[in-house]
Amino acid sequence: MAKHRFIAGAVCPECEEQDSIRLIVEQVNGEEHEHIECVSCNYHAERPKQQEEKDIIGLFKP
Ligand SMILES: [Zn+2]
Repeated sequence: MAKHRFIAGAVCPECEEQDSIRLIVEQVNGEEHEHIECVSCNYHAERPKQQEEKDIIGLFKP
């Protein structure tokens, strides 16, 4: 089962839509795989597990 979670204040680097980035956490063979996607465009990026959420917000906030 994948968990979907929107990241408050995150801005998509592609379409610059705010609050359109969501974090998806999937359990694959007991390991958590996280990636992010934009619901407004087709932007998609892998996210290393080690990264803290504040890093991702810092990434999309100017
Ligand atoms: Zn976008």
